[in-house]
Amino acid sequence: MFLRRSCKAATRLMSLKLERRLMFSERLLLRLHLLVCAPCRQCDRQFTLMHQMSQHYVRRKIQPPRFEPDDDDNDLPH
Ligand SMILES: [Zn+2]
Repeated sequence: MFLRRSCKAATRLMSLKLERRLMFSERLLLRLHLLVCAPCRQCDRQFTLMHQMSQHYVRRKIQPPRFEPDDDDNDLPH
């Protein structure tokens, strides 16, 4: 069956969808493949999870550090 043999193409689409919005035909191919292929469904979930985790990590790294108000102003010259 064609859909079963296209795991490599499906994996490429899973990776692409994390970088850009897939075209309608690409989304359709991927969805059809994921309907019939349990290993690729698992792979898709893992890709998505890894992407979310990396985005979370990048956001935390980019945000400027928070400075909490400090009662001790002794560091400032008066
Ligand atoms: Zn597959």
